[in-house]
Amino acid sequence: MKRLLILGGTGDAVRLASLAIDLPGLAVITSLAGRTIAPKALAGAVRIGGFGGEVSLVEYLQTENIDLLIDATHPFAARISGNAAGAATRVGIPRLMLIRPGWVRSDLDDWIEVESVEAAVGAIPTRVERIFLTIGRQQLAPFASLADKWCLMRSIDPPDPIIPLPPGELLLDRGPFSLEQELQLLRDYRIQAIVSKNSGGDATYAKIIAARELGLPVIMVQRSIVPEGDRVGDVLGAMKWLRERNSNLMRS
Ligand code: NAP
Repeated sequence: MKRLLILGGTGDAVRLASLAIDLPGLAVITSLAGRTIAPKALAGAVRIGGFGGEVSLVEYLQTENIDLLIDATHPFAARISGNAAGAATRVGIPRLMLIRPGWVRSDLDDWIEVESVEAAVGAIPTRVERIFLTIGRQQLAPFASLADKWCLMRSIDPPDPIIPLPPGELLLDRGPFSLEQELQLLRDYRIQAIVSKNSGGDATYAKIIAARELGLPVIMVQRSIVPEGDRVGDVLGAMKWLRERNSNLMRS
């Protein structure tokens, strides 16, 4: 058996594991950081928790005899992607990045594009008083400085209680969300602006369409640069790469 390690934490990683498991002669292991209390069920084996940096990831790849590595982490999970690139090069195994394309602004969108979550805080228009923060739970602290605003904060799990938060309300929920749901939410909470990461994909795109329909500005956090190397934008592309590499490995 050849061994595939998928670095996960995304819906794409879940779908990839469910397809890769059917390839002949391939064992599939998905690695999760352990951030989500109840992660979605995964096909194949699962390991949970950080590796301890690039050097420890090298050790893991060697000890576990990993033959192929697919980095299917979230586009904003930059550190693990950098570690994966370095570790795969050092061990000498093929690595693929599965990274869905970012959303593209249409002429009807009112986006304020910023480089980081921290920059998003300063980019919120002065007239805006009620903000929808849809950036997950780990980077809410910079918004605590917005003492004169009100924020609706949506995440799968609650933020760490030690993290300072702005005035507002926590909403624990997991996508995908429909356009109707998002329009209702924005109206019910009288939201005037949204802060989002440019995550790409369909599961959380409805909020962007809803903002467009309601004429709301979106403070859109841009992605950082991803490591060089093989890259695909969807699960089918990853499966094609995997089939080719797997048959090469089975021949060798
Ligand atoms: P990150 O900043 O790139 O990674 C921080 C550290 O977490 C890494 O150095 C690594 O620890 C560990 N880690 C991350 N992903 C891992 C994985 N799949 N398996 C094992 N360890 C992992 O990542 P992050 O932004 O904190 O995201 C953590 C996880 O949540 C990722 O797996 C990502 O796919 C998922 N996620 C992130 C976002 C987001 O907006 N950032 C959104 C949705 C889902 P060691 O250095 O100790 O190995």
